[in-house]
Amino acid sequence: MEQLIPRFIKRRSLLFYLLSDIVLFIVYSLTARMGLEFDAVSGFATLVWPPTGIALVAILLLGYRAWPPIALGAYFVNASAGAPVLVAAGIALGNTLEAFIGAFLLHKVVRIGYSLDRLKDVIGLVVFAALGSTLVSATVGTTSLLIGGIITFLSYVPTWIAWWVGNMLGNLVIAPFLLVWSQQLTLPTTFRRVAEAFLALGVLTGISFLVFREFFGMVPRAYPVTYLVFPPMVWIAYRFHQRVVVTATLILAVVAVWSTVIGYGPFAMPDLSQSLLFLQIFVAVVTVTSLLFSAIGSERRQAAEKLRESEERYRTLVKTLPDPVVLTDLEANIIMANEQAFKLFGDKKPESVLGRNAFDFIAPEDQRRARRSLVTTMTKGSIKNVEYTVIDQRKRRKPVDVSASVIRHKTGEPQAVLAVVRDVTQRKKIEHQKDDFLALVSHELKTPVTSAKLFTEFLQEHYEEQGEREISQYFARLDMQMNRLMRIIQNLLDVSRFPSKMTYHRERIPLNTLIAETVGELQIISPNHTLDIVSLPTLYVRGDKDRIKQVLTNLITNAIRYSPGTGRIVIGAQKKAPFVTVWVQDFGIGISQENQQKIFRQYYQVKTGEKKKRVGLGLGLYITREIIKRHEGTIWVESSKGKGSTFYFTLPLYKAKPVR
Ligand code: ADP
Repeated sequence: MEQLIPRFIKRRSLLFYLLSDIVLFIVYSLTARMGLEFDAVSGFATLVWPPTGIALVAILLLGYRAWPPIALGAYFVNASAGAPVLVAAGIALGNTLEAFIGAFLLHKVVRIGYSLDRLKDVIGLVVFAALGSTLVSATVGTTSLLIGGIITFLSYVPTWIAWWVGNMLGNLVIAPFLLVWSQQLTLPTTFRRVAEAFLALGVLTGISFLVFREFFGMVPRAYPVTYLVFPPMVWIAYRFHQRVVVTATLILAVVAVWSTVIGYGPFAMPDLSQSLLFLQIFVAVVTVTSLLFSAIGSERRQAAEKLRESEERYRTLVKTLPDPVVLTDLEANIIMANEQAFKLFGDKKPESVLGRNAFDFIAPEDQRRARRSLVTTMTKGSIKNVEYTVIDQRKRRKPVDVSASVIRHKTGEPQAVLAVVRDVTQRKKIEHQKDDFLALVSHELKTPVTSAKLFTEFLQEHYEEQGEREISQYFARLDMQMNRLMRIIQNLLDVSRFPSKMTYHRERIPLNTLIAETVGELQIISPNHTLDIVSLPTLYVRGDKDRIKQVLTNLITNAIRYSPGTGRIVIGAQKKAPFVTVWVQDFGIGISQENQQKIFRQYYQVKTGEKKKRVGLGLGLYITREIIKRHEGTIWVESSKGKGSTFYFTLPLYKAKPVR
């Protein structure tokens, strides 16, 4: 926002103020004197009154303190034109108030920018200064004349109108010219534009002379061809900033007024003030239209520039992102991509990527999943971290991690999809190394732990038979710890095999028998809990028996482990063709809403705050979910904290057509 008083003026010395006041007084008085020459209505209300514009700009640029030269100028000029002291004082008061109020409104309400390149600035200037503040001066001035006995009631209205229109033109033609030119000149960009500006102004001047001065008498008198000024005016307003526009309107106004005064042009009538009234209304209309037009143009240019800048910024951002970014239409056709994407998909060549369909780059085994993900993205708005294998231009396979979101129209209609495709080859490599290491360690551990367990069992039985109950009890406890150790090792082994290396033997399994068997075994080793089978129809599922047993064991063991003290665990199964749903319900500690999604992640354990209670590695549910997924089933949990949890999973019924 430009300030009321530009800084360069604010810092000036007293001498500067004094000089500026003197200059203002002289300029104001001279233009005022000149204004009164133009056949002023009732001697004082003139239709050409530049002082109004000068006073407004003086207050805007120099501050409210610039009022004395204005008041003095107005007083002396009117007094010297024959106004009695009080009348001249009244007129001076009106003129000063006018500038004061105009500047105040422009500053406070409009927060005007002096280059007038916003629509708001122009509208503000027209409404508050040209139309509004001039009412004050016209009313105070004309009323002073009336009170002073210089005019009668009858001539009040025409005097008032002339006063108002004259002042209005001051604010429409002179004020914008001074304001805009008071702003620092940002040099025009090219010689061509300067040349064009001069040409346009030349054409306008020519046409103004043609229309108003009848081309120095060369054209037959006073054809009403004033509209001819519009084309050059539109040219100027459309192509240039206000600096050229205000210059053009000043040229037009000067030529028009001067010609009319000396009796030329379509507005020339025997009565000069009458002619000037209509002329000035015409000039006002042309001026306002041009100023508005140019401001709209400037705003549009600025908006376009901002848009270009933001697009440029956005482009740079996408370009410098370390990850490949791809923009596709709703059918996954690639519209835009950054260099990293060209590198990832196609030999760094844009043409090998742009215009192609994103699915062309996805490995056959991932196609279905990828298409489903696109649907999910469209419905949910975004997806995060979905892994696929892509096949690039040179048929190289690369693991990637994709996050995508939908870009929408203002109306909410989906328009495009933006995807960040991260190459995770390195990460996968490290994961494989870690898995290999885990597999190796757990495999190596398995053998000694298995034999240690065998010895433990043997020793336990041995002491039992010997009647050494106490020692046998110790070995029983040791055996329990061995079981836990075995389970942890087994889990680690399983995890290290996921997702590719785990093998499954698909067969027809009587689920009811398998559940009954597993529950039976777990009941023996957990005497403190009652494992209750509530519903168990005879069912056959398709799957790997050991793996499904592992799932049941994991869920029931968790149910027991996380419901200390409360004794009942409920197990059930229900057919819902083509699936069966199995559930394991406990009445234990429950799981908070926040943790319900997380517990299926690798190594995730709910923090209880009691370190001792940590058992296992947080792998059980992850493995369980992987196994269920492999069986084309789903697993989920319903739980409320403190009340218990129910884990559900589904398996395809044997009779059902296998999904794959
Ligand atoms: P862990 O080996 O730690 O049991 P899991 O993957 O089996 O690992 O379980 C992950 C976390 O889920 C556990 O740390 C536990 O906090 C929570 N959890 C699992 N089952 C239950 C349950 N039935 N009730 C309450 N919390 C459970």
